[in-house]
Formats: sequence, C-alpha cells, structure tokens
Amino acid sequence: MRFNRIRLNGFKSFVDPTDLVIAEGLTGVVGPNGCGKSNLLEALRWVMGENRPTAMRGGGMEDVIFAGASTRPARNFAEVSLHLDNSDRLAPAGFNDLDTLDIVRRITRDAGSAYKVNSKDARARDVQMLFADASTGAHSPALVRQGQISELINAKPQNRRRVLEEAAGISGLYQRRHEAELKLRGAETNLSRVDDVIEQLA
Ligand code: ATP
Repeated sequence: MRFNRIRLNGFKSFVDPTDLVIAEGLTGVVGPNGCGKSNLLEALRWVMGENRPTAMRGGGMEDVIFAGASTRPARNFAEVSLHLDNSDRLAPAGFNDLDTLDIVRRITRDAGSAYKVNSKDARARDVQMLFADASTGAHSPALVRQGQISELINAKPQNRRRVLEEAAGISGLYQRRHEAELKLRGAETNLSRVDDVIEQLA
C-alpha cells in the first residue's frame, strides 16, 4: 500500500485546489518560512483521522478551513483527498481486495466532518483503523513534526512505548480492546438489571 497523491482544497493556506504527487522513496518538503510545509503534513494527518485540534495547531476543528486573507474571502469547507495504490494488496482486511483507495475527508462549517472511501460514506473509526492497522496514521512516527524529536527524548517511557506500538501497527488492537471492554461493561450492566427484574418477579 503506497501513498501516491494528495489533493487539498480550502485546507488552511491551500485555498485553491492543489494536487501533489508523492513519489516513491523519502519525501522532503522545502520552502520559505510560512509557505505551508507544516500545513501539508497536517493535511496528511487530518485525512487519516486526526481529531485533536491542538495537533492541527488550532482551537477547534473548523480552524483547518481557509480563514480568509486580505484579497480572498474565507471558505466554507475544507477537503483533503488521499490516493493510495494497493496493487501489492497490503491494505488491512476489509480493504485489501481494492486496487486503489481514495480516502476523502471534508469538513463544512457548522456541519462537522465526513469521510468517504472510494466514494462511499465511511466512519471516522474505519478510516483511523485502516491506517492504524497499516502501521501508519495520524500519529505515525513516520511523520515528524517540528519539536517532536526533543519531545521524544524528554518523554516518559510509557509515552515512548506508544510510539513503538504505533510503528508496530498494534495501536488499532488497543482501540479494539478498549471498545470490546466498553461493550463487555455494557453487557454486565444489562445482566445485573436482568437479575434485578428476575428478583422482583420472584
Ligand atoms: P515554517 O517554516 O516557519 O515552520 P511552514 O512552511 O511550515 O513555516 P505553515 O506553518 O505550514 O508554514 O503555514 C503557516 C501559514 O499558514 C501562515 O501564513 C498562516 O497564516 C497560514 N494558515 C494557517 N491556518 C490557516 C487558515 N485556517 N486559513 C488561512 N491561512 C492559514
């Protein structure tokens, strides 16, 4: 599974539709201060399901929408599309029979975010799991933002372990375990209610 194209539209400083080809191998982004290098990396995290406004350097999720400039009015939505080549069939289960994957995330003011995978509506969780299982995703250690190296050096061992877990592709399993535990707790609560009802009827 390989990322080969990203398209930004109304995302932060990328007000006009912008297509970028991601070539094979290591990709470096260079440009003068403030030209949008970090915004590009944030767009990649965002389309993979990042939900923390702080990780997007904003106060709320709608801050990713182009906010306007002296010559351009603000936009009403932001959209990022990521095109993946899956000819090696390495996408996680549920997606591995597809030749290509087009992941689209769109946020509209006052209407929130929506995702599509190959033009079909998808849940945020499905997109997040797709990338977590593929050892990448919004928290992937492969995307290194400014200040992250020193944060890692100063991090507590538990937090450093999380980076290794993300790289090993097991963070999706933790999420599933957490969801299973919540379901189990719900079932236990229901069972104790059933016991109460049986006791009342007896
Ligand atoms: P540096 O090299 O200094 O780290 P950079 O190339 O990484 O800079 P970014 O931080 O990606 O640059 O981009 C900053 C620019 O993006 C600023 O000019 C800022 O005004 C603009 N920007 C951020 N959010 C929005 C938004 N919602 N709407 C319009 N412009 C935005």
